[in-house]
Amino acid sequence: MKRRDFITWTTAQTASMALGRQAGGRHAKPRVTVIGAGVFGVWTAWYALQAGAEVTLIDAWRPGHSRASSGGETRQWHPAYSNPAYAAMATRAKTLWHQWEKAWNTQLFYRTGRVLMASELGKEQVLAAHERAQKAGFPSEQLDLAALRKRYPQFNLDEVALGVFTPDIGLLAARRAVATVADRFTAGGGNLIVSKALPGNSKQGRLMSVKDTAGRAMGADQFIFACGPWLPNMFPDVLGQKLRPVRRDVFFVGAPAGDDRFALGSLPTWSFRGAPHETDFTTWYGFPSFEGRGMKLCPVNERNTFDPENDSRIVNPVQVKRAREFLARRFPALKNRPFIETRVCQVTDSIGGDFLVDRHPEWENGWFVGGGAGHGFKHGPAMGEYVAARVLGKADHPAWDKLFQLKEDRLKVFERN
Ligand SMILES: Cc1cc2nc3c(=O)[nH]c(=O)nc-3n(C[C@H](O)[C@H](O)[C@H](O)COP(=O)(O)OP(=O)(O)OC[C@H]3O[C@@H](n4cnc5c(N)ncnc54)[C@H](O)[C@@H]3O)c2cc1C
Repeated sequence: MKRRDFITWTTAQTASMALGRQAGGRHAKPRVTVIGAGVFGVWTAWYALQAGAEVTLIDAWRPGHSRASSGGETRQWHPAYSNPAYAAMATRAKTLWHQWEKAWNTQLFYRTGRVLMASELGKEQVLAAHERAQKAGFPSEQLDLAALRKRYPQFNLDEVALGVFTPDIGLLAARRAVATVADRFTAGGGNLIVSKALPGNSKQGRLMSVKDTAGRAMGADQFIFACGPWLPNMFPDVLGQKLRPVRRDVFFVGAPAGDDRFALGSLPTWSFRGAPHETDFTTWYGFPSFEGRGMKLCPVNERNTFDPENDSRIVNPVQVKRAREFLARRFPALKNRPFIETRVCQVTDSIGGDFLVDRHPEWENGWFVGGGAGHGFKHGPAMGEYVAARVLGKADHPAWDKLFQLKEDRLKVFERN
């Protein structure tokens, strides 16, 4: 296409999108615009495309970028939820992850197994996870201290009373997965735009367009705001008291040269659980070294709010000190080993910890998808399948509709402030 033709084509295209119709005033296909290409957005766009819609996916940066919650190396898949609705969603998602891995001939899920270890005081928590995994249909095995010592000489097991091993739990290659879905989306005819988009004008209870930073107004029949931790700033009146991005510091520790005991294939994902006063027991979990990046460890107790766009991504020195102490205590071979990478990410907490999938209170065709908290990634394809069906009027999950609805109450932290 020559430059002049391209300009003419894009101008015509933009104009028709702004008007929300093509020549003749009719669209053969429903037009869906998804704002946000994190794990929820890309899978929603993909399934809307599969359902025959004309789909535009807009992201301010690119799919899987470093500031997005979905932009890390790895995210864990597990089915051990206390709420059966999430267990069902995780299980559906696993089927879909495997379906698309096969279709696209690429590996995104890595079966590592997971070992949860507990002190006497944390036993109940771990046994509950064991039962939940079994209830969801996944085998899980109890290990006494002797069995744990034999299987995992990498850990210092002082004070550990028992363990539970669930072999089917594993890791998803997070940002690679998001980028893969986005690539398939564009290869399949989806339209990906890199731009920041905000709601445009509305009319009679319908959102007519989104406007991007280049000044373009883009029309559609349905708009889905899957903007993760950006949502509360984007919709302060509606979501400012409902969602809260919270920082998470992540460390990757390098094993000694030639020591492969902390890498994928040698180490499962792991977590120590105990009573609240046992700080290191309650607050750390980790994954084996994946693609050579070092064993990952994360604290789960950070409560500091975080601006996903503007805050600096340098780990907190207090967490560095705590990570060092934890390693020295639980991983003797890694005691003085260097951190070879660190990341700062954010989870998006919501009321009751539930995901958010609902309409904007003023727009019948404007949707929110978010509130992924610290566990949303694994659900990506099941969420996308569900949201696309719901937005296109083919919803068949009333229990999920109710669970994910915009709640009346406010996040407790805001009430305290
Ligand atoms: C350290 C850490 C560990 C985690 N571990 C796990 C785990 O083990 N298992 C698990 O299942 N989950 C885990 N999670 C949670 C999971 O990563 C998130 O729930 C999930 O990634 C949320 O995805 P999202 O699509 O809602 O948001 P995001 O991935 O943040 O995507 C939102 C997108 O919207 C775009 N955007 C925002 N505003 C605009 C705009 N105005 N215009 C255009 N684009 C815009 C952003 O650029 C971004 O790409 C973890 C999270 C963190 C931080």
